[in-house]
Amino acid sequence: MKHLISLTALALVAACQTFPSDPVPAETTTVTIVETVEVPPPTPVEPTQGQQWLFGSAEARVAMVQDWNAIASYVEAKAASRPNASVVLAPGATAESADFLACGADQPLAAVFDADETLIWNLGSMAAFDRMSTGFDPKVWDQWEKTGAGKAVAIPGVKDAFDRIRAAGVEIIVNTNRNNANYAGTADTLKAAGLGEFAHEQTLFLRGDAPGGSGKDGRRYLISDNYCVIALAGDQLGDIADIFNDKTLTPPARKALTASASFDTLWGNGWFILPNPVYGPSIAGTMDEVFPAETYWEPAAKE
Ligand SMILES: [Mg+2]
Repeated sequence: MKHLISLTALALVAACQTFPSDPVPAETTTVTIVETVEVPPPTPVEPTQGQQWLFGSAEARVAMVQDWNAIASYVEAKAASRPNASVVLAPGATAESADFLACGADQPLAAVFDADETLIWNLGSMAAFDRMSTGFDPKVWDQWEKTGAGKAVAIPGVKDAFDRIRAAGVEIIVNTNRNNANYAGTADTLKAAGLGEFAHEQTLFLRGDAPGGSGKDGRRYLISDNYCVIALAGDQLGDIADIFNDKTLTPPARKALTASASFDTLWGNGWFILPNPVYGPSIAGTMDEVFPAETYWEPAAKE
């Protein structure tokens, strides 16, 4: 019996050690289980080779400064000599019969330039396309036209050239394939890049301002109603004349057209093309089209 009492006392002592004499009321606790998932690191975004060259290289900067110096020098010299013929191809002109619009004696002089990758580099949208890995997206581009001001930069050499062209008394007119519904955003973008004020349908012409869709001849004729155009510049041949945009032309045939006797003397002499290895109809051609058969060569076989 004595043995039993001792066991009971021991049990009570053990109970007191296990449970507090005044137990804490039970609480409801919510436990959130966080599952850890291994997320692979994002694939690093890289610019394309063309973007590295055009937007990132010293060589591109120098090429652009050279080109814009040449354009300004040409315009200054031409303005001083007061030409009576425009460099805008007349309607129906061909390589065999190149004909240019006439200039009225009292028409003010103008130089007509494309905007994208001619006056400005679209760095904001180009990087966004890279990050999205989508390539060009028209809906995103439409947003860019509206809101990109401040995120596009003037191409090196353009501001100095504009100062010289304006000082020579020549009006600068922009003819761009941006949508005319977004003219305000485009004017803002040019202004924010430091290129000055442009007024819709006076010094800024956009797609939709004349018949012909993305063809620019209609707008060139419209501009020529009021101005004698002494220089055209752009990064694509359509910035010069729609005749070069014939979709049936292969890259070699398109190249040959620029070399026709009527047109060849105009390059650097009223017509100016700036480099753009990033996009546009120049990025085309098969192995056979790019590398002429007569240049075929093989290295010696490995021993
Ligand atoms: Mg362009």
